[in-house]
Amino acid sequence: MNSAFEKAKPVLREIECAGYEAYFVGGSVRDAVLGREINDVDIATSATPEEIMTLFPKHVPIGLQHGTVMVLHEEDSYEITTFRTEAGYEDFRRPSSVVFVRSLHEDLKRRDFTMNAIAMTREGRLLDPFNGEESIAKREIKTVGDAYERFSEDALRMMRGIRFVSTLGFSLEERTKEAIMKHGELLQHIAIERIAVEFEKLLTGSYMQKAMRLLIDTGLHGFLPGFASYEKEMYRICNYACTELNAKEEHWALLFYLMDVRDPGSTLRKWKLSNKEIKKIEKIVQGVYDIEENDWNIYSLYALGKEDAMSIERVRTILHNEPIRANITRIEKLHTSLPITSSKELAINGSDILAWIPKKGGPWVAELLHVIEREVVSGRLQNKQEKIREWVNMWDQK
Ligand code: ATP
Ligand code: MG
Repeated sequence: MNSAFEKAKPVLREIECAGYEAYFVGGSVRDAVLGREINDVDIATSATPEEIMTLFPKHVPIGLQHGTVMVLHEEDSYEITTFRTEAGYEDFRRPSSVVFVRSLHEDLKRRDFTMNAIAMTREGRLLDPFNGEESIAKREIKTVGDAYERFSEDALRMMRGIRFVSTLGFSLEERTKEAIMKHGELLQHIAIERIAVEFEKLLTGSYMQKAMRLLIDTGLHGFLPGFASYEKEMYRICNYACTELNAKEEHWALLFYLMDVRDPGSTLRKWKLSNKEIKKIEKIVQGVYDIEENDWNIYSLYALGKEDAMSIERVRTILHNEPIRANITRIEKLHTSLPITSSKELAINGSDILAWIPKKGGPWVAELLHVIEREVVSGRLQNKQEKIREWVNMWDQK
């Protein structure tokens, strides 16, 4: 058994000793069956949240309305969720309240896909009433129960299905795919924040090309903000392997560049990304356009700063199918050769200029500082106070 499960075993034992059931569930069990690396170990139990909180004094009630308590055990933390059903879905969204039950079967039944509805006991035995193991062997993503019904209960599951294509490389089972093709419009009922979480996993997954093609082929992209009329352009990203991109903002930027959207801000605001994220994505998109037109020079590198410049270069490298390491090294070298990397490093400031030139302050000071900054960046003027003073005096006499 994987060491992450080994470490969590005492938690399960503790719950069982108190007379309740407890199992490993969800993505970690699926990934273990697949032989993939495991992220978070999730636990499901017949004990109520109150019972769990009594058993484990070190806890954080992170989602009591959904039955989830985070328990701290040694160095690790575990999300323990009470068996529940989600009866009473309204408006194609997951319900705001849930019903706790004492049956594992009921809990597995409310889960989205068969591969995600397998439980594992403390001893490593699988409980798999919906044949999730078979789906994993066939590398298929199949809803638990009727696909249309399950997507009507919670339409986000359609996005989740396609994002699992991206993270696992599996295919959608035929009926599951058909239901997405027919009922994509249900996605309109889902909060954009939840959709964005899944879409970003799709965008950054190892099998993004396959998933993106499917997103468009099923028509689901048409119900995502800003994408409906970009079918042809969105397909372009299916030709690029993006696993070497670093941040999710780089993935977004590549997509918008390929869609030929120069100002993605208005679309991204509909996606409710943070201002910081939007600014970064816009900067990368604009940077890629600029560098494609003018190539790198010391001024563009200085103005963008190292981090954003590297993001831009990574996206550009993907576009040209070039070796990433060599291109990034080139940018790093060019950046190291800059005399200064920000205006703060300039050896003088506005007060120095005013002390040297007997003129009243005004916008001319900032303008002159800007010219000096450019001279220094270009290497024509040394970043030493004395040298700059000489230069300023000459400028004043002109
Ligand atoms: P990952 O490894 O990418 O986190 P995961 O399967 O753990 O994948 P989570 O979003 O962490 O995905 O969800 C944990 C589990 O909760 C899922 O495996 C699934 O059983 C269940 N689940 C999550 N979202 C839904 C949903 N919308 N409808 C039904 N079940 C869900
Ligand atoms: Mg998970």
